[in-house]
Amino acid sequence: MRKRDRERFQTKLLDMRKEVLKGIAEDVKEGREGEAGEGRDTYDIASDERDREINLLLGDRERKKLQAIDEALSRIESAEYGVCEECEGEIASGRLLAMPFSRLCVTCQDEFEQAQRTMGPSDTLAISARVSGGDFGEEST
Ligand SMILES: [Zn+2]
Repeated sequence: MRKRDRERFQTKLLDMRKEVLKGIAEDVKEGREGEAGEGRDTYDIASDERDREINLLLGDRERKKLQAIDEALSRIESAEYGVCEECEGEIASGRLLAMPFSRLCVTCQDEFEQAQRTMGPSDTLAISARVSGGDFGEEST
């Protein structure tokens, strides 16, 4: 990948990072406002615990996104950016533009997602395969 392209993705990633951080700051602010408006009663402790749990969940999702962005940024610095972690092929720049923190090329991502789907409820898959008819040969394995 050329230096100029790397810099373009770096800028994009830094922008995304800023957006995520802004989102977290807003979540925290909303949480505080809600708490102040509800007033205090005997359920204080219980609701505090619940609120903290919700905040932790929210934070987790955002933290994961931040982590992905940070990892992409460090890959840019080590010039590993844009290389698929599975097959070491180049990730298409169109894909990188849409998802700048992609670590897999389209082919490997598809395979990964298919593997995840097969691990899901296999009964439903078997039934839908039967209903859709067609290849009976594959069923007799
Ligand atoms: Zn690949």
